[in-house]
Amino acid sequence: MSVQFIDFSRQNEVIKPEVDAGWAAVIAKSAFIMGPQVKVFEEEFARYCGVKYALGVNSGTDALYLALSALGIGPGDEVVLPTHTFIATALCVSYTGAAVKFVDVEEVTYNIDPVELARVVTKKTKAIIPVHLYGQMANMDEIKAIADKNGIAILEDACQAHGARYKGVRSGAVGNAGCFSFYPTKGLGGWGDGGAVITNDDKIKHMVEMLRDYGRIDRYCHKMKGFNSRLDTMQAVVLSAKLKHLDEWNRMRQAIAAVYAVELARIGVAVPKTAPDRDHVYQTYAIRVKDRAKVMEGLKAKGIPSLIHYPIPIHLQEAYKDAGYKAGDFPVSEKIAAEILSLPLFPHMTADQVKEVVGALKESL
Ligand SMILES: *Cc1c(COP(=O)(O)O)cnc(C)c1O
Repeated sequence: MSVQFIDFSRQNEVIKPEVDAGWAAVIAKSAFIMGPQVKVFEEEFARYCGVKYALGVNSGTDALYLALSALGIGPGDEVVLPTHTFIATALCVSYTGAAVKFVDVEEVTYNIDPVELARVVTKKTKAIIPVHLYGQMANMDEIKAIADKNGIAILEDACQAHGARYKGVRSGAVGNAGCFSFYPTKGLGGWGDGGAVITNDDKIKHMVEMLRDYGRIDRYCHKMKGFNSRLDTMQAVVLSAKLKHLDEWNRMRQAIAAVYAVELARIGVAVPKTAPDRDHVYQTYAIRVKDRAKVMEGLKAKGIPSLIHYPIPIHLQEAYKDAGYKAGDFPVSEKIAAEILSLPLFPHMTADQVKEVVGALKESL
């Protein structure tokens, strides 16, 4: 038996009848761009997250970029973010012309370290981007205290944490705005690219609405130099169908993670930890191992794929050479990058598949 890293075939079967009917309705009206289904999904997603507005855009990267633009961030500004994240978090800052200021992460949650964060904030800092990595939210109370004290906006990168909670509040709903990706492998994923910005702020809402649609306020009347970044109607149909199952699928992820935690602790593997005030949704199940290359080889030989999220922290990426960082600047992130290993985990993973992964891991160690 082999196990896929992610297998959404069951999810796809579950939603297919609803998607078929929904897509037929879109095709019948040729309402491919900004059809009524987009607004329906936006309202459902806003309600789910517990905020006033959700705005569909083209991708998670665009969500972050448009939200930063809506906050007025640009050249001369600084934006603070963790170095242990997917590169898109940094890219969107660079697109605005602002400077990236990296911060190390906490060894326990893998999320931005508030103590280190407080140290890098300057008068130029205009936004903090906490990334809710792997499905667990960052320490929002401490981040918010620093942001409020210094008059800095918080933009949550919730691209890996659909439905996660911090003290009962959903990801994306704590900061000035929250950004989501609906890339197919995310916790809530479309059948193509997609993203959303959520917010309670009317000004951010209006700005993102304009920015995603060529900066227009009327058909051919343009207030600013906007972009073309909309959630397409076909994806909105898929996302509405999936959203109905998101909590259930997150509970299935949590149940699998619970089995992993017990079984892997038994064989001495460092498993992910969840802070007591948070709900982890396990978009990624990342363990820590010392002899990683050997372990990955051993797993592969038994038909078990594993991945590294992420092998190189952003401050050490060639693309960010110009930011002026060097090896040793962020010791926790660098240590994590060398040891982290993601195991297969998806909602419909069977007990046998979990057992298979645990058995293969045991032999590989
Ligand atoms: C996936 C992801 C993004 C980018 O989302 P896209 O939809 O792929 O553009 C940004 N940040 C994080 C943390 C992500 O995981």
